[in-house]
Amino acid sequence: MLPFDYGRANTVDGALAAMGDKTKHPPTSAPSQFIAGGTNMSDYMRLGVNRPSRLIDINPIEDRRLRAIEIGDPEIRLGALVRMSEVEDHPEVNRRCPMLTESLKLAASRQIRNMASLGGNLLQRTRCEYFREISWPCNKRNPGSGCSAIDGFNRQHAVLGVSDACIATYHGDFAQALIALDASVDIIGRDGIRRIRLADLHRPPGDRPDLETVLGPDELIAAIVVDVPAWAARSRYLKIRDRQSYAFALASTAVALDLDGNEVRDVRIGLGGVATVPWRATAAEDVLRGRPLTEESAGKAADAAFAGARPRQHNGFKVELGKQTLVRGLIELREMRL
Ligand SMILES: Cc1cc2nc3c(=O)[nH]c(=O)nc-3n(C[C@H](O)[C@H](O)[C@H](O)COP(=O)(O)OP(=O)(O)OC[C@H]3O[C@@H](n4cnc5c(N)ncnc54)[C@H](O)[C@@H]3O)c2cc1C
Ligand code: SF4
Repeated sequence: MLPFDYGRANTVDGALAAMGDKTKHPPTSAPSQFIAGGTNMSDYMRLGVNRPSRLIDINPIEDRRLRAIEIGDPEIRLGALVRMSEVEDHPEVNRRCPMLTESLKLAASRQIRNMASLGGNLLQRTRCEYFREISWPCNKRNPGSGCSAIDGFNRQHAVLGVSDACIATYHGDFAQALIALDASVDIIGRDGIRRIRLADLHRPPGDRPDLETVLGPDELIAAIVVDVPAWAARSRYLKIRDRQSYAFALASTAVALDLDGNEVRDVRIGLGGVATVPWRATAAEDVLRGRPLTEESAGKAADAAFAGARPRQHNGFKVELGKQTLVRGLIELREMRL
């Protein structure tokens, strides 16, 4: 562990000011970095992957924009400093959209979810083994050094959204449920607040996998904003993993379904464990809209979802697993009694 300074911010302005002058660094390699629950930051500092010289603790900030859970109709607003377990325990969130609750409940452990904030959860870094072990070449950690996973052991790596520079999976669960609903994030910077779609927050690896998000080093996520349609009561998050608890997804799906009899009026699909960024399967949604939901149409939707997959030596199974996860999610949801 490298030595670092530690400061506490009581206000948003204080937190932004503490970042110092604007720098060209991406947030993950800036000299000063924010810490919230610390469950990702401390892990990666211990491993030597994150190397801030100064941590700005944003937990003392009492600003309602970062703290509140606001349940409107259709808008639900979740402050970035709200803990994962607070949302998981919220009965109205669960009633309105079970997949939001389930995507939190199936993540990590209750102890971690008591510590971890929603903002930190969205920004968690990949679990790629070569990224975590600093002796390996890794374009994300050390730009231009190469990718050890492409020709290495890549069983847990992504098949969608990959590039020739990086195939690391985005491992978060919550973001898949949010992206299915086309959620947005409010970002506070020195110039005020801007709102962007969650779909635009994470950057696909391309030739710069070190640039993970569009956030500047002196910007804070303030809140997640999501319009939850009434029909999202028929939604679920299905997570397939090597063991039934305390494990990241090999494949997962967040599905919300609007049915008219057996016909799909509308559908939203997020896919986890298989892509480099939170992944909305719009091609699969297009296959299903306006058609009866059957095993056959669900299968066709799954084929469309994975049409662009680029598997490597050890992760080819994720294509079939991802498809089966989606088909199961859809069919089980069709049978759900509301
Ligand atoms: C053993 C283990 C198992 C896990 N399993 C799962 C799992 O199955 N599914 C899953 O989804 N997650 C899992 N996680 C990840 C866990 O959910 C994240 O570590 C946690 O959500 C991060 O939140 P945090 O508040 O602790 O973030 P921190 O560690 O405090 O911060 C993470 C990053 O976000 C930045 N940051 C934090 N808040 C803000 C903000 N408001 N604005 C701007 N930047 C900010 C920090 O600078 C840092 O870069 C697991 C973690 C562990 C350790
Ligand atoms: S997959 Fe990405 S994070 Fe993993 S070694 Fe390659 S460049 Fe690094």
